[in-house]
Amino acid sequence: MSSSHDQAHSGLFHLLPLGLRVQSKLEALIDTHMQSIGASKASLSSITTEALWRQSGRYTANSEFLRLKDRRESGFLLSPTHEEEITALVAGMVHSYKDLPLRLYQTGRKYRDEKRPRGGLLRAKESMMKDLYTFDSTPAAALETYDSVRRAYAAIFDALKLPYLVAAADSGNMGGKLSHEYHFASPKGEDTVWSCKECDYVANEEVIYMPPTARGLDAETCVFEGISTDRKMRIQILGPRTAGRTEAWENISHYVNMDAVKSHLAQHHPGVELDTTIETEELVHIIESAKTPQITLSDSFLSLSTIPPSHDCPNCPTGEIAPQRAIEIAHTFHLGTRYSDPLGALVALPDGKTRVSMEMGCHGIGISRLVGAIASLLADEKGLNWPRVVAPYEAIILTSPQVADGEAEEVYDILRSGSGEGEEFVDVVLDDRPDKNLGWKLRDADLIGYPVLLVLGRGWRERREVEVQCRRLGVKQDVSVGQLREFVGEILEKL
Ligand SMILES: [Zn+2]
Repeated sequence: MSSSHDQAHSGLFHLLPLGLRVQSKLEALIDTHMQSIGASKASLSSITTEALWRQSGRYTANSEFLRLKDRRESGFLLSPTHEEEITALVAGMVHSYKDLPLRLYQTGRKYRDEKRPRGGLLRAKESMMKDLYTFDSTPAAALETYDSVRRAYAAIFDALKLPYLVAAADSGNMGGKLSHEYHFASPKGEDTVWSCKECDYVANEEVIYMPPTARGLDAETCVFEGISTDRKMRIQILGPRTAGRTEAWENISHYVNMDAVKSHLAQHHPGVELDTTIETEELVHIIESAKTPQITLSDSFLSLSTIPPSHDCPNCPTGEIAPQRAIEIAHTFHLGTRYSDPLGALVALPDGKTRVSMEMGCHGIGISRLVGAIASLLADEKGLNWPRVVAPYEAIILTSPQVADGEAEEVYDILRSGSGEGEEFVDVVLDDRPDKNLGWKLRDADLIGYPVLLVLGRGWRERREVEVQCRRLGVKQDVSVGQLREFVGEILEKL
């Protein structure tokens, strides 16, 4: 069990008090920047109806919904996302261009029936998300909104003081054209992003265009037999030539760009998802025993090839792009009228006669995923390390049992009190547990990952100096009480 969260069942987590403080600080940071673009906070129900998702065309029997039935056997879902609900809500309330732009966001729980939950908070059945939905009356206004959201996202991720990547992305089954993904580069990531060493080009696999090879089905074409997750559709992928006529299913990712396959299915065969978790042996059995209609994806007319490990940059004349593993932490989508059309979210234009579907955007930040990603990015052999802005506390005071009563409180007050009324200088906590020795407290504080440790040990008893430690910056220095505020303030500025 880590000190911030506890796994209850596969893919489900409880947050402990310090983990909750991290999450709350992240939410507060997001709130500040959502307010800066005029977004209002709402809170939608976690439960939605199958009927509404049928209306939008996204209800399928095979995807990762967590389903519920009530006593009358009506179908409900635990919401994986809220485009349907928010569009229906806004359609009932907003009828004129005069009420736009409208920007509504929430932070709440989302649900997915993940087949193979893994990576702790990175891929779970229940996760905390910030989702913002924007409504405009014209495409031009919607694109202005999109740009302002991107600026707000840059401010949020800049505040973490951690390097991140912004990749141009295909929006797949979300239905729009313009989208961006935000990533942390990490060997633990499940996504691959491609970036150029010579310019600022960053993209995910779907948008990098590989010219399809002009080749039909011949003896040297390799065939991958797959099955949809609902077992109702056989999916044949004709890949580039390899040594064998047919290839083991597990090898598919060596030859076929799975992002391109996913994106093609979402666009042309809505509701069909390829099961990529299946073992070859099981797959052979299913395909032999089932009479299923077939979709064939051929490499000769689709750009399904995997991208070679180095590839010319599409954005500059001399650069090459190379892949790196990454954790996706946020996403912005311009949706256009993908949801306002089927759900009838219309507004009257200035002429008073014409009614048009609202132009929408949806913009998510994976809050629990971001907490997990930051934790894995900055952890070292001693424990976690939190950036100042989301740390459970910015600093902790640790006392040895010999420190006299009231002295630690004195240091606490010096650091805590800000210059104005009710303002705090440092968000500091005091560990004065009498039954633990200083070594134990230091190990515990390192494990939890407070940015700054303030030790009242021998230096305090002999010279009234506080030992200030910061593992991330390699700082360990005795500081007099008079200089403590300035010294700690300067360290925190860098974290
Ligand atoms: Zn380039």
